[in-house]
Amino acid sequence: MYDVVIIGAGPTGASAALFTAKAGKKTLVIDNGKSVTKRAWIENHYGVAEITGQDLVETGKQQARKFGAEIVTATVTNVSKSDNGFKVETDQSEFEASHVIMATGMMADLAEKIGLTTKPGTEPRIKTILDVDAAGKTNIDGIWAAGTIAGVSMHTIITAGDGAKVAINLISELNGERYVDHDILKK
Ligand SMILES: Cc1cc2nc3c(=O)[nH]c(=O)nc-3n(C[C@H](O)[C@H](O)[C@H](O)COP(=O)(O)OP(=O)(O)OC[C@H]3O[C@@H](n4cnc5c(N)ncnc54)[C@H](O)[C@@H]3O)c2cc1C
Repeated sequence: MYDVVIIGAGPTGASAALFTAKAGKKTLVIDNGKSVTKRAWIENHYGVAEITGQDLVETGKQQARKFGAEIVTATVTNVSKSDNGFKVETDQSEFEASHVIMATGMMADLAEKIGLTTKPGTEPRIKTILDVDAAGKTNIDGIWAAGTIAGVSMHTIITAGDGAKVAINLISELNGERYVDHDILKK
């Protein structure tokens, strides 16, 4: 049983997983390797002079794994309610989690299939997004959404930031108080 299953390991999903795993939450990321970010050459990600999208995505996954996030390659085919939370089915197996974060980028097909409320996208080239509140909550209690699929501007610094924001909101809800993740430079 995971505290959170994150669907998508692009900048949004991996950034969210970095925070949830580092907060000690049992975290699983499921991704089927179709991140559009892999086609990017990035010179506008604050703090990183220049980087290929592929390297940014791989670095993000390594950061999440460093703190204990598990990352599996598979396609999520369904998410349904279970006694303890949610059953997440993939084309290979199934998992259980108390919370789910949708970080599926431009892909809204799974969200529509599982009954999440969608609306037309407002960013260029984005057809459909999820209807989320300011915290990142969808119409199904326990399922959150972040990044491109949640309608934010499609830039890595923003999608990664939104993944972190939603993760901190989820961690704070699980902990019952606002969460802060600050490390201090050792002298
Ligand atoms: C050609 C190009 C150039 C770009 N250049 C820049 C740039 O210079 N600077 C910049 O800031 N941004 C750039 N971007 C945008 C950047 O890639 C995106 O903004 C962004 O970061 C998207 O992040 P994301 O995590 O929301 O989506 P993605 O990175 O697309 O990740 C979504 C992940 O979800 C997975 N997924 C979806 N559905 C399922 C499912 N059912 N089961 C399992 N996995 C699933 C996909 O495989 C994918 O890996 C560029 C994009 C493109 C296409």
